[in-house]
Amino acid sequence: MGDKTCLGCRKRVVEVKLGFMPRSLCGKCFCRTVEKRIRRYIRLKYPFKKEDTLTILDDNSLDAKVLIFAMENLQKDFPFKLRIVKSAPCKGKVAVPWNLDDSAASFVESVVFKTAFKMPLAPLSVIHPDEIRIFSKIKGIKGPAGKRLSIRGKKVLEGLNKMEEKHPDIKFSILNFLSEINP
Ligand SMILES: [Zn+2]
Repeated sequence: MGDKTCLGCRKRVVEVKLGFMPRSLCGKCFCRTVEKRIRRYIRLKYPFKKEDTLTILDDNSLDAKVLIFAMENLQKDFPFKLRIVKSAPCKGKVAVPWNLDDSAASFVESVVFKTAFKMPLAPLSVIHPDEIRIFSKIKGIKGPAGKRLSIRGKKVLEGLNKMEEKHPDIKFSILNFLSEINP
């Protein structure tokens, strides 16, 4: 018992514990919360109807594989059309496989270097790369890490990673702030 029991189901043993997670969870509850957050993001940022199509940019990264996995699961409960493309089409809204690191670092980079920034539709922007790694391990999804940041963006991420040691939810705070000013 105690902190060894999952606080989600209160049955299974804790498998996942991360600094920014409010509750320690078993693998099953952890995966459920990850998918729930992706679905909530989609509902808020891209509310679609049954006939609508969601296009996903597949850059062959682990993030893209996880995003496609979560969207195929969503299709089981809510039928919509899923289109997977290897390069961004010029027309229509496309979901990109940016994770929380990509999103937070790109945004801070634009603030620091005063460049234009427009947050794309990125359902995994609410998911930390550590969560993506654990989720994909549990689900048996494999793929290489995505390379999306510029040289400056990588520098920014290094800084954020250092800050994260003392403030585990800093990247989530940045994303929430971005979402507030740029809904
Ligand atoms: Zn559980």
